[in-house]
Amino acid sequence: MIWYPYEQMKTMTPPYEIVDAEGVYLYTKERRLIDSISSWWSVIHGYKHPVLTEAIRSQAERFSHVMLGGLTHEPVQKLSAKLEEWLPGDLDCCFFSDSGSVAVEVALKIALQYFINRGEKKRTKILALEHAYHGDTFKAMEAGDDEDYHFILKACAPRRQVMHIPARTEALEEAFRQYHDHLCCFLAEPLLQGAGGMRMYDLSFLLRARELCDQYGVLLIFDEVATGFGRTGNRFVSDLVLPDILVLGKALTGGYIGHAVTVARRKVFAAFYDDCPEHALMHGPTFMGNALACSAALASIRLFEEEDYMSRIRRIEAVTRRELKGFSDPRIREIRIMGACVCMEVNDSAALKGYQRFAFERGVFSRPFLNYLYAMVPYIITEEELVQVLDTMKAWFA
Ligand SMILES: *Cc1c(COP(=O)(O)O)cnc(C)c1O
Repeated sequence: MIWYPYEQMKTMTPPYEIVDAEGVYLYTKERRLIDSISSWWSVIHGYKHPVLTEAIRSQAERFSHVMLGGLTHEPVQKLSAKLEEWLPGDLDCCFFSDSGSVAVEVALKIALQYFINRGEKKRTKILALEHAYHGDTFKAMEAGDDEDYHFILKACAPRRQVMHIPARTEALEEAFRQYHDHLCCFLAEPLLQGAGGMRMYDLSFLLRARELCDQYGVLLIFDEVATGFGRTGNRFVSDLVLPDILVLGKALTGGYIGHAVTVARRKVFAAFYDDCPEHALMHGPTFMGNALACSAALASIRLFEEEDYMSRIRRIEAVTRRELKGFSDPRIREIRIMGACVCMEVNDSAALKGYQRFAFERGVFSRPFLNYLYAMVPYIITEEELVQVLDTMKAWFA
């Protein structure tokens, strides 16, 4: 049997069985559904895109995978070269892994060891945000701030290495003032906190974080697993504020194959690069740099550039604002829009009960969680399809 994610298996509603998918559409045996959440925010080009399919097919005809231990290959070399050129500043040193959670683990490991390698043994604490989500592995879970995990963390009783603050400048300044000697890094989902409830905050907070990190020699880590590749209306938030370590996942391969990357700036890499074997980074996921994933990622980035995705994303945002202008309901606490992300936060999660079925009947796949009804559509969506998604959300409250 299949053990499904985030579900009480005894009471879960059975999942929809997908038999085909193309463009923004998922197909069950009886229905065609717009995927309004891009398969957990990853399938930015939609399904069965001929360019991505061809990239994977042609690489599979050579080899699908070889390990990176003692071996290397063209797709991984090309992808790291592309990222080096494409990402801002000197974010140049790419460590690949198979999922966002692992890439976050790697980022934290790099931050901790960066100071160990430099002989600064006191810097072991991690500063992170309230309502953060960084993945489901143990350290990622600890760096996150999701109540669903707290009982697990309690059960294994770790000495909390992570401090959480609200995304407010005063709290940030206070934390740095008090703990700067002990901090190795400040980790954040920049501008948009996804799984924590599509919470949005201001760029000025990140600019101040950059200043404080510089002032106190703390590494700034951006987890752009969800926000990267245009979702916030910026190509990367890192284009606006340069972090020391950047984590990408989800849309990296256009959502075609699970893969992620932790990208470090030159000065971070330099702390590992010397004659001492103990200063090496001891990590190596079996499937890191998978050739199919790298080929898909290269094709995905090429599409993103050549087909001017940033203007598509601006259009998605403009249509969303137009369609939701003046819309309100007593059950809705707030409507938030940023780039190609829209969220209706309700006062009581009961107000969303039954929405998934309601949307299904109107040809939309959606998966609200807690108090959040949201859409993160594939960027290839047409205006008409987007309006259908937004109309469905509005109709629920009618
Ligand atoms: C999804 C997500 C992760 C975890 O990625 P997985 O590939 O599911 O392990 C980490 N950080 C953020 C911000 C995410 O949205």
